[in-house]
Amino acid sequence: MTAALPSIAGLTKQELAEKLVAVGVEPGKAKMRAEQLWRWIYHYGVTDFAAMTNVAKELRATLAQHYTLARPEIVTEQISNDGTRKWLIRFGPGVEAECVFIPDVGRSGALCVSSQVGCTLTCTFCHTGTQKLVRNLSAAEVVAQVMIARDALGEWPTTDNPLNDGDRRLTNIVFMGMGEPLYNLDNVANAIDVVSDGDGISISRRRITVSTAGVAPKVPELGQRTGAMLAISLHATNDDLRNQLVPLNKKYNLEDLFAAIRQYPSLGNAKRVTFEYVMLKGVNDTLAEARALVKLLANIPAKINLIPFNPWPGAPYECSDWNTIEKFAAVLNKAGYASPIRTPRGRDILAACGQLRSESVKLRASQRAKEEA
Ligand code: SAH
Repeated sequence: MTAALPSIAGLTKQELAEKLVAVGVEPGKAKMRAEQLWRWIYHYGVTDFAAMTNVAKELRATLAQHYTLARPEIVTEQISNDGTRKWLIRFGPGVEAECVFIPDVGRSGALCVSSQVGCTLTCTFCHTGTQKLVRNLSAAEVVAQVMIARDALGEWPTTDNPLNDGDRRLTNIVFMGMGEPLYNLDNVANAIDVVSDGDGISISRRRITVSTAGVAPKVPELGQRTGAMLAISLHATNDDLRNQLVPLNKKYNLEDLFAAIRQYPSLGNAKRVTFEYVMLKGVNDTLAEARALVKLLANIPAKINLIPFNPWPGAPYECSDWNTIEKFAAVLNKAGYASPIRTPRGRDILAACGQLRSESVKLRASQRAKEEA
């Protein structure tokens, strides 16, 4: 059996140019040729070099001999009754991550992507927190999640049918899948460069949100390098409680974190920080805490996302009562924060926050146990 050819779908401009030089393109011409390929790969989403009609026949043949434009393997695709879609993607043996498309979020629909397989943080309410880090995803592997979603949604324009921007369903990207994006910032920044490029996938940096558990020293750098929107997984208004829920807080406490947030470039009315706050029954959901939250966010251009806790088997928490969440939200509303409750989506396909890949891991674990027995 011949080994599968490597795919060049998902690469940065620089990487593409290197791949071209590697198959004999003159280094002086590699950049120009990479630009040509770029439009086919990222604007039209072609999966066959033969479709690249303005690329010389010989070069197309050479490329096809050495590379493919294949996407990583899709293990499963699930579609929820609310239109949410979830893909389990295999990047390599035992390297699997999920990404989720959520319709009617952002301008039209948001894709929630993973930046790592597993996670090193051990946030106590998050199911990914119970899984070991397998590895960082490469920039190409992050981009591939977007390409897979575009494939499935049928959103690549063709030369005959130039899809109007306004018709797109995938308009926003959120780094809220598995992993801590700021522990993989180089790859996340490169991936954002690729997907925001106006000659390709063209999702504006203002429609890309990176969520962090609070890696304070990397927060300003994220803004400088990517121009993306910032989201902070806050979940508590004092260090004692946050140390428990988000153990990373012991390394970078609220004071460090807020100092870093204040340095995020170009914050203002049009560029607000999103603060995520998971509603845990009897843990962080009193009205005093709602008021403390308002106080903590004073003078920061902010949005608040109250996330009803998504329970998972064995989780040490329950979701706050709906009544409690509404009262909590009312305090925020009164302080000027509009519609702060995030409705749970895709619950029937376990597409909710912190549940990604858990089923597949469980399945594999039970299979292993069977084999061992
Ligand atoms: N590591 C990053 C991004 C991944 S988590 C971060 O911490 O922000 C994306 C969001 O989902 C975070 O706000 C996280 O706190 C939240 N989350 C994780 N597990 C959850 C659960 N079981 N229920 C509700 N929200 C959860």
